Amino acid sequence: MITELKSIGDIYTKMPSSDDARRFLEDLIWADGRVCPHCGGLCSTELKGASHRSGLYQCNECRGQFTITTKTPMHATKLDLRVWLAAIYTVLNSSKGVSSVVLARMIGTTQKCAWKLGHAIREMMREDYGSNALLSGIVEVDETSVGGAPKFKKGKKNKRGKGTKKTPVMVAVARGGEARAAVLPGISSSDFEPLIRGWVAGDATMMTDGSSCYNFITSAFPVHHRVIHSKKQFAIPATGAHVNTAEGFGAFIERARVGVYHRITGYHTQRYLDELTWRWNRREPVEEIRTDKKGRTSPHIRWKPLPVVQMMRFLLKSAPGREMRRSENYGLRWPAAALLGG
Ligand SMILES: [Zn+2]
Repeated sequence: MITELKSIGDIYTKMPSSDDARRFLEDLIWADGRVCPHCGGLCSTELKGASHRSGLYQCNECRGQFTITTKTPMHATKLDLRVWLAAIYTVLNSSKGVSSVVLARMIGTTQKCAWKLGHAIREMMREDYGSNALLSGIVEVDETSVGGAPKFKKGKKNKRGKGTKKTPVMVAVARGGEARAAVLPGISSSDFEPLIRGWVAGDATMMTDGSSCYNFITSAFPVHHRVIHSKKQFAIPATGAHVNTAEGFGAFIERARVGVYHRITGYHTQRYLDELTWRWNRREPVEEIRTDKKGRTSPHIRWKPLPVVQMMRFLLKSAPGREMRRSENYGLRWPAAALLGG
């Protein structure tokens, strides 16, 4: 069992053949036992012998045949599975994502191939938040916008936020916990409410800015603190009210857009948001003591990404049932169930 991968080269050293990579994927995805992707059956037999390719199994219940990649985003791939692992390794090791151009250079494929791999990996990063994954404790909610014209260009100052062509995005972050982000269908309260109610536990302490769109929160949650930015109010020490964590997550999204993807538009926006949320939620707190210029020390929490094999395990657990196919026009298509979050 491979528990550590230090570089892309390490993948090829520790897995001298594509078969080794397949076994590694089996260890990660079927850690709790082999599951038939056709019927969910737990009882299957390996098909051995020269007439079968290695890693082929037959379900004892539905008699269907399958491999580790069946009905995953790697379905029917012709690529060496080590290339998949190299792509996953690269994407998981970058803090804000990688463009397909850079990914292609790192793993030695064409840009088109890397683009598809990137989307397949992002498909696995789409999280299904079950009902027991509600944000709780202190939850900051903020609205941000992604894309659109840069703030300054050729001496012209462009408008920010609402009323521009940017995509409105809703962000919720539990302090010291997970984040959620979604493209808003609109910017009125009726667009906000179902999202927030679907993300946040009913007993959470809510923190927002002064926007009237958040008025429903006051009656829907036991505690609602606001900071009124227009009154130059950014934090209220007495109540601990601020939305700096949510704004920090918003800034993290914006840095990824500017630094990595340049343009995040239209229907791909939610996929990029899912990738960034996934990254944010796969970090662990490291307590450190910081020393300032005057030699004073203070405790500080630094968020460190999880070790890469652990992240791979998280990622690949979401692979079964997320089949992704090539469309006729050389793009991608998702079988309907995947699009509906099934
Ligand atoms: Zn079956």
